[in-house]
Amino acid sequence: MEDFENFTQLAIPGVQELKPYQPGKPISELEREYGVSNILKLASNENPLGPSTLAVAAARQALTEVSLYPDGNGFELKQALAKLHSVPQNSITLGNGSNDVLELLARTFLTPADNAIFSKHAFAVYPIVTQAVGAQALVSTPNSADHDQPYGYNLDEIQRLIDENTKLIFIANPNNPTGTWIKATELEQFIQAVPENVIVVVDEAYFEYVQVTDYPDTSQWLGRYPNLVVTRTFSKAYGLAGLRIGYALSNPEIADLLNRVRQPFNVNAIAQAAALAALQDRSHIEKSVTLNQQGLRQLANGFTDQGLSYIPSVANFICVQVGEPAQVYETLLRAGIIVRPVENYLLPGFIRITVGSSEDNRRVLAALQQAVKKRL
Ligand SMILES: *Cc1c(COP(=O)(O)O)cnc(C)c1O
Repeated sequence: MEDFENFTQLAIPGVQELKPYQPGKPISELEREYGVSNILKLASNENPLGPSTLAVAAARQALTEVSLYPDGNGFELKQALAKLHSVPQNSITLGNGSNDVLELLARTFLTPADNAIFSKHAFAVYPIVTQAVGAQALVSTPNSADHDQPYGYNLDEIQRLIDENTKLIFIANPNNPTGTWIKATELEQFIQAVPENVIVVVDEAYFEYVQVTDYPDTSQWLGRYPNLVVTRTFSKAYGLAGLRIGYALSNPEIADLLNRVRQPFNVNAIAQAAALAALQDRSHIEKSVTLNQQGLRQLANGFTDQGLSYIPSVANFICVQVGEPAQVYETLLRAGIIVRPVENYLLPGFIRITVGSSEDNRRVLAALQQAVKKRL
């Protein structure tokens, strides 16, 4: 019997064409491939302070009970989140990272006859979850380079794309990889204008970091807009990316649907315990936010000193224009620094750098200066 060798043709059409998510290069991989040590990873928007010590202690404790299944309903964590956001517990859906809830949304609401809308330079997971279920992605034109939120979400353009097959709209606020944001009045006007049978997903992965006035906390709008879904994560400011935990807030009917599709034990016991403890440690978040504010200024000033333009960011990363990003990325790798090339986000000539400690930022600025000089 001949070996069957066209499994790709067996896959559903969306998957045949799917390109896998490209994560930031892991530290161990750079060590293996380049033989460098003392590696600095500023590629995945991780917290340079790490997790709260309370979260680590809770995780250790939870580790002693891992022969037991986790609480599939996440009762204690949901109780704490319900209190934090002043929402009922049945409006919460826990996810294995907020990626998981984004995927649940796609699997719950999209068929091949439907479409989802997001901006051109938006989080790579939106096109992946849309395409994986065979739905159509409608990509909206972003703001122009000279807009005060350059390359960011243009909600008028999104509104123009909505048609009778639109089921979901993914809005990252602030947006990754641009670091741009949308004001409360603008976002609320948009949501009011969207038909009620179109679900607006506002992805607030970087919520805790944002320090500008007029930035909306859309979790407080859930009572007003039944078609609003808000996603949050413990991966960024809370420093728990490796544990994989995030959640969605929505009206209870949507939460019920998402929970039907969800794997029964999608969030592990260690992650639940660590997240619960992390919520109690406000001072760790405050420290993280202060450090990030200083770091954003340090990087922006450094870029300006080097004559490099950047996209003003309110998150914990910043995109800087370096001309030949592939070469600069490679030179930084050889210096033991991992940043994020963003060609896959179609951003012309940029690399994305996560804000680190002041020493991390100093190091990446110095290496960048060398890398850009070398290129000239
Ligand atoms: C990092 C990030 C997330 C978080 O993903 P997790 O699965 O929670 O780790 C979600 N949305 C955006 C826009 C992000 O940049």
